[in-house]
Amino acid sequence: MPDLVLHRGRENSVLRRHPWIFSGAVQRLNGNPASGESVRVLDSHGHVLGYAAWSPASQIRARMWSFGADIPIDRAFLQRRIDAAQEWRASIVDAAQTNAYRLISSEADGLPGLIVDQYDSVLVCQFLSAGAEYQREHILDILQERFPSALLYERSDTDAREKEGLPPRSGACRTVDPTETIMIVENGLRFHVDVRNGHKTGFYLDQRDNRALFRRYCRDADVLNCFSYTGGFAVAALSGGARQVTDVDVSTEALRLAEENVRGNGFDTSRYAQIEGDVFHFLRSCRDSRKQFDVIVLDPPKFAASASQLERAARGYKDINLLALKLLKPGGLLFTFSCSGHMTEPLFRKIVSDAAVDAEREVHVLSLMTQAADHPVALHIPESWYLKGLLCRVD
Ligand code: SAH
Repeated sequence: MPDLVLHRGRENSVLRRHPWIFSGAVQRLNGNPASGESVRVLDSHGHVLGYAAWSPASQIRARMWSFGADIPIDRAFLQRRIDAAQEWRASIVDAAQTNAYRLISSEADGLPGLIVDQYDSVLVCQFLSAGAEYQREHILDILQERFPSALLYERSDTDAREKEGLPPRSGACRTVDPTETIMIVENGLRFHVDVRNGHKTGFYLDQRDNRALFRRYCRDADVLNCFSYTGGFAVAALSGGARQVTDVDVSTEALRLAEENVRGNGFDTSRYAQIEGDVFHFLRSCRDSRKQFDVIVLDPPKFAASASQLERAARGYKDINLLALKLLKPGGLLFTFSCSGHMTEPLFRKIVSDAAVDAEREVHVLSLMTQAADHPVALHIPESWYLKGLLCRVD
């Protein structure tokens, strides 16, 4: 097996069990591994630190699969990791209420670059690193063995693949195509999910716990759901007894599914409205017409895809939060989120705080929110804590 030797002093992050080895940390490579092939990682004194997948095209030149000298990467290794992830999910997801969750969450489950989301009997896979791609056949074998009646579908069509020098790929894996939309149950509510064309693998599963919390605050409320996608928060609001709910999104297709989701749960569509358009623009028009709401959700897409975009992203977050704060009635609630990994929690809090000062509103935080536990945060991998949310009472 090829050896990857680190520069002196550059082993520290690996010793702290962070899986990423950046190109600048690599002193030399002995051997000629193919993209994604396993390499043995050594410190500058020749001590074995563990095994990693070689990723020649990426700035993250290798991703650790295992730490320690005696854990080689073979099918049995992958099977142990997949089984551990599955066991954990079984213990945290209430199967009577929910049949869609993240089964495998990449680095946080010790499987860098592999995402598997389970939507009832469909498993949607993403192979996002050279290492995950290299092990693809083993991983599919294991998933087929563990879930014999599941359909496997691949959505390896993200920008992350490009950075790894891999072409996009999507489609059924070894099984037939799933139906056009799949029906899932989340917190006892039914949703149509389009795993073939939807965002990510089809649904924002990471917001499940926050939708459950949100539902409790919606009784008799006039709710504005910004960046609604397929109406996850809207359906939760209606089930919580909201008086009126408005979804805003730019995507026609997402809003079409949102309406089906409202109807599919048996809610009266006279309590439900949609605006197809830009949230920034819509919030300004509400301000100009002095429209007010009891509860507002802001769940925008990732405004900062890289560290260099953080400043621009911060302005975007501040703008929407400032506008939303102004639209809330006294005692109203703002559920505001950032899913940018580069936006830290303290910075996000500061942005919302600055927006409150400018909006001349007093804000108390009722709850700190994050991603649901099937998207685990590995404490030793700060990047795995990507979703931050504040539930604010606004006076
Ligand atoms: N809250 C959603 C997930 C939001 S994802 C849920 O619970 O499922 C972000 C959404 O924002 C996407 O649906 C995307 O179409 C939409 N979007 C992105 N930029 C937008 C903009 N400027 N105005 C309105 N919608 C936008």
